[in-house]
Amino acid sequence: MNPRSLNESVYWISQASLKQSQTANPFPKKADVAVIGSGYTGMVAAIQLRKAGSDVCVLEKDNLGQGASSRNGGMVLTGLSIGLRKILNKFGRERLGRYYQESVLSIDRVEELVKEGDIDCDFNRCGHLEAAYKPSHYNGLCEEQEFLGRELNHETRLISPDDQQEEIDSQFYCGALLDPLSAGIQPAKYMSGLIRLANQIGVRLFDRTEARSISRHGNSFALTTSQGELRADTIVIASNGYTSGVTPWHRRRVVPVESFMIATEPLASNLRQTLIPKGRMIFDTKRFLYYFRMSPEGDRLLFGARPKHPGKSVAGKAEDMRREMVSVFPQLKAVGIEYAWGGNVGFTSNYLPLVGGGDGIYYALGYCGHGIAMASYFGFELAGMIRGKPSDSIFLENQPSSIPFYHGYPWFLPLVHQWFRFLDRLN
Ligand SMILES: Cc1cc2nc3c(=O)[nH]c(=O)nc-3n(C[C@H](O)[C@H](O)[C@H](O)COP(=O)(O)OP(=O)(O)OC[C@H]3O[C@@H](n4cnc5c(N)ncnc54)[C@H](O)[C@@H]3O)c2cc1C
Repeated sequence: MNPRSLNESVYWISQASLKQSQTANPFPKKADVAVIGSGYTGMVAAIQLRKAGSDVCVLEKDNLGQGASSRNGGMVLTGLSIGLRKILNKFGRERLGRYYQESVLSIDRVEELVKEGDIDCDFNRCGHLEAAYKPSHYNGLCEEQEFLGRELNHETRLISPDDQQEEIDSQFYCGALLDPLSAGIQPAKYMSGLIRLANQIGVRLFDRTEARSISRHGNSFALTTSQGELRADTIVIASNGYTSGVTPWHRRRVVPVESFMIATEPLASNLRQTLIPKGRMIFDTKRFLYYFRMSPEGDRLLFGARPKHPGKSVAGKAEDMRREMVSVFPQLKAVGIEYAWGGNVGFTSNYLPLVGGGDGIYYALGYCGHGIAMASYFGFELAGMIRGKPSDSIFLENQPSSIPFYHGYPWFLPLVHQWFRFLDRLN
């Protein structure tokens, strides 16, 4: 890889017009609702609340929409981060059905938003493949297919190792399971469309505005921000993997874990056509999984994973990631990497999102890498709850607990990583 050709920036953002600032000064003294965080969760909640007549301010400490929501893999997936069989064992059949239905409904929500808002973001129900890292994992996928059909009446298709070539031009995997319901999206274009919609209907957007403290005053709240004080009757916490000490209760329940992505230079036409000929979203069965896809234009491969050495420079991590990509696709050995970037995924103790609220403070965060659809979905749910319509989401019933001895510094992550990598080698 020629380091001079590497852009240490997000490929998706280079293709989308994510405006830096939409804010009309001066900073207000009062709003009905103050939303902390301008990703999918915060922006969808803000749009729905504004549509219902509330005066809404969105506060974003960085550039609008440039947290995980414009840095992700663009895979809008069925299911949850926690395995469905674990849900069955823990919560029983009835609840499994409800969890699964909401995961499917959340993709419909994204589709509706895209259609209604006329958002040009390459939303496409292309399906996803879960690729087996080991032969024993393929047996697991066979059981998974049977389980999905029996318990959830959901049809998926097994791709045997012999037929794999028609889906992915790699010998790295041992078969796969295809779920046709999942979709692909250009995440920064989706984000940009949400910002446009919010702006059009009069949501007040403040980038480079950090919420620094929250205090209750009777029935309302005073937020100290980097632009001054704001009074609000209701607060929405939508800070996900970027949650800070401003909301210590949430920070103790959501751990930021870096995920890293690279995008190749434009590929030669034979590679464009053969790597992933049907344009699926793909991730594998490892604990430290790889995820990859073609760009919506079909001209580049985008490849992501947890970085092997999180302390390295962006260029160092990109080189490590390029090697991992070449282990899957040796035919890309001579292909350059043009973009590399990382972002924070918010993880919780039980791999389910932290969602809830009442008494003026509402929150949804910690989607455990499965958040494009879920964040959009919970943006709707939070808006409904704030307007007095209780949510009947099953997710509110089993909330993650705080993580023991965790107050913002994830000291345990290196140990967890070593353990997971060991398990990946073992089985
Ligand atoms: C590299 C990567 C790949 C991923 N791939 C996928 C995928 O393929 N499919 C999938 O479903 N999910 C994926 N995810 C997860 C998905 O992107 C997230 O779950 C989703 O974007 C969460 O949206 P959000 O609005 O809750 O949070 P974010 O988009 O992270 O937004 C939170 C915002 O809050 C702001 N903020 C925090 N604190 C404050 C404060 N005090 N004041 C003001 N602003 C504040 C932050 O600056 C940030 O912009 C991926 C994530 C990453 C990082």
